[in-house]
Amino acid sequence: MAGIIQLLPDRTANQIAAGEVVQRPASVVKELLENAIDAQATIIKLYIKNGGCTLIQVDDNGTGMNAFDARMCWERHATSKITKADDLYNLNTLGFRGEALASIASVSEVEMKTKCAQEDIGTRIIIEAGNFINQENTAASQGTSIAVKNLFYNIPARKNFLKSISVETKHTFEEFQRIALAYPSITFEYYNQGKNLSKLEGGDLEKRINDLFNFKEGELIPTNEDTDIVKINGFIGTPKISKRTRGNQYLFANGRFIKDPYLNHAIISGYGNLLEEKKHPFYILFLKVDPSKIDVNIHPTKNEVKFEDGRHVYTLLQSVIKKTLGTHFVLPTDTQLLNAIDTNPSQNINDRFAAVNNPNVDQSFNPFGNKKPKTPTNWEKLDAILNTPINPPEQQTFFSQPEKLSESTTHNFEIFQIQDAYLVAKIDGELSLINQHRAHRQVLYERYTAQQTVSSQQLLFPRTLELSKSNFALYLEMQKDINALGFDISEFGQSTIIVNGLPSELSKEDGASVIIQIIDDFKTNLQDLKIAKKDALRQAAAKNAAIKTGKILNQTEMQVLLNDLMACKQKTIDQSGKPIMVKLTKQSLERFFQ
Ligand code: ADP
Ligand code: MG
Repeated sequence: MAGIIQLLPDRTANQIAAGEVVQRPASVVKELLENAIDAQATIIKLYIKNGGCTLIQVDDNGTGMNAFDARMCWERHATSKITKADDLYNLNTLGFRGEALASIASVSEVEMKTKCAQEDIGTRIIIEAGNFINQENTAASQGTSIAVKNLFYNIPARKNFLKSISVETKHTFEEFQRIALAYPSITFEYYNQGKNLSKLEGGDLEKRINDLFNFKEGELIPTNEDTDIVKINGFIGTPKISKRTRGNQYLFANGRFIKDPYLNHAIISGYGNLLEEKKHPFYILFLKVDPSKIDVNIHPTKNEVKFEDGRHVYTLLQSVIKKTLGTHFVLPTDTQLLNAIDTNPSQNINDRFAAVNNPNVDQSFNPFGNKKPKTPTNWEKLDAILNTPINPPEQQTFFSQPEKLSESTTHNFEIFQIQDAYLVAKIDGELSLINQHRAHRQVLYERYTAQQTVSSQQLLFPRTLELSKSNFALYLEMQKDINALGFDISEFGQSTIIVNGLPSELSKEDGASVIIQIIDDFKTNLQDLKIAKKDALRQAAAKNAAIKTGKILNQTEMQVLLNDLMACKQKTIDQSGKPIMVKLTKQSLERFFQ
């Protein structure tokens, strides 16, 4: 009697597997780049169109495949990398499951051209939604080119889950960046909409890091440790360059990027109290263990691994970080640190730290020993000459509409400032306490939201700023909206921008570099708050342009600020629900004296 259980057809099984392997365009990028690396390519080019939704193409100059393999590689569980389960514990390749290509082909339209050294002619293959359409001979040079078009076109439900083109583009670039970091000897190129956004010549890790990030000399510390259990090498950032966003943390195990909260914790705890609260350090660390001591087959995306000696790896990693920071800075004792904190509470932890240890800090230390000193560009030279102040700069005032004071609607409050942070004011006969930073932040946020013309001041001498590649991509995306906030910025070369003008509430001294902070906060807002992009940008801009806690305000400034706040739609709590203003009512005052 026939039962009710049936084997799923291959195409269905592939589509189900694709659910795990191919979550978004960036997953395809990862699989194709990894295959090119496994094929020993030395030059790899990635082409993205519309966030990878219409095209992801990887061209490599690796081994290529013969006509048989070219057909075979699209079958489920087809791999040249392992032949038996035991091989998993002696793995020297990134792939091994033999399911990526089959999964990708089941949810897209694929065109591949490939040729290996042993054959004179190449092969071209077309597959649509897992259906084999055509195979023919074609002229090709050695290597493989795989174009994945219209991802998820046959699975609308998956397609609908994709984020905006810019978010998907960002993910593809981040994946590209991770793989490029792990394989610095390979030349990588990234093209978006036909435009080359990144060309990374093969070299060593220092060169790759320099090409991808804009670190200054001394901001990274080299790490190197060789133990029986694990070899650790790479670079960690000084506590000073830690950020509020977690973005730049790269941990690789045997050449693959891994996400490992446990080991991340080891690194953070290695920094100990050198890190300010809620700050994340930069790191690029490579762990190398005997392949038999690591299980990489935990998840189809192969982003997670399990170490046989997990606890040891944790402890070693933690102590390596401590040691690295220690030899670089000479760590202070706890008492020294405490003393430093007590005598000068206004300094941040890094300055306090430096204050204790200055005599021992090797200021000239440079992890990139062979790096040539950077020759200033003409812009920088001009900038340096022109920006040398002849007279001390005038005190910049934060408010942009002083004329408001004379308006008839303006109220003159009884008001004073305490602790350079709070305003104490009598409003409608009641005692109110106002957080000055949050108040100004709200004022600016509402001004940006109302899309009032925001006043901008032109800089006499424009400033150039270099952004990291991913920040530059974000900048390009939000360019219009950023300029609508009162910035006047234009692009200048690959990842450099020129700031010609600033919102008038920003002081000229810190104004230009605030843009980097705004982009960083914008990223965090998008990730954490899941709010619309424009809103995330406005909030980030308001936060960074607002007067800071610690700024002494004169009477006029306080009056303007309070009047502006009273004109806001939302005066008592800010966008994240934190209080801006608290009122001490008669009843609450009476309660104090009961
Ligand atoms: P895996 O990488 O796990 O083996 P894939 O589905 O990613 O599985 O690839 C299947 C096989 O196709 C690989 O084992 C390899 O032999 C071949 N292959 C894939 N991409 C390339 C490439 N760019 N160059 C040469 N061979 C490739
Ligand atoms: Mg693979």
